[in-house]
Amino acid sequence: MSGLICPKCGKKSEEIEFIEAFCIECYPVNIKLPGKLEIEQCRRCEKIKMRGEWTPYNKRKISEYVVSKCKGEFDAAEYEPENGVIRFIIEGKKEIKRRVDLEIKTVLCTYCSRVSGGYYKGIIQLRGNSKKIEKYADFFLEKLSKKTFITKAEEKHGGVDLYVGDSRAVVELVTALKLKTLMTKKLVGEEAGKRVYRTTFLIRF
Ligand SMILES: [Zn+2]
Ligand SMILES: [Zn+2]
Repeated sequence: MSGLICPKCGKKSEEIEFIEAFCIECYPVNIKLPGKLEIEQCRRCEKIKMRGEWTPYNKRKISEYVVSKCKGEFDAAEYEPENGVIRFIIEGKKEIKRRVDLEIKTVLCTYCSRVSGGYYKGIIQLRGNSKKIEKYADFFLEKLSKKTFITKAEEKHGGVDLYVGDSRAVVELVTALKLKTLMTKKLVGEEAGKRVYRTTFLIRF
């Protein structure tokens, strides 16, 4: 078909595909599109918030979310975040397109805001033999960054201090290593009605 002009948007059949008399963006369908949608994305790690949880950026998940907000008669649908277009398959074979207004709001996720805010619940103080301090500092950084986060590592008083997000991970690790550790717990405040402690782990080599 050529020489058609869409009666709704005025596009020509040379510019866009047509179904009968309409372009595929205007072909009348029984689908209710959502109003403006919003997704939060972390500007630091690029994770997106889906159903209240921070998950790695994933096009398919965004598509599923947008499609779940569309109601009506369609067989399949896919949203393309790159161009804001959602493609519907209707009546088993016809492909039509619609635009969805999805805003990606950039924020900091829980994890990144804690890291950037210097949040920590445990301090590992490594003291004594400098060779061992170096070796264990690297080891702790590697092991603990898989379970929690390290806010900072700094050289201090002839040793190294590691600031760790979760002190439980440290307890597990020093226990597994059978390292002689002096633990001191200090109440630092409250978080969601629970007492928050900061634990210092002093390890001498
Ligand atoms: Zn049109
Ligand atoms: Zn993040």
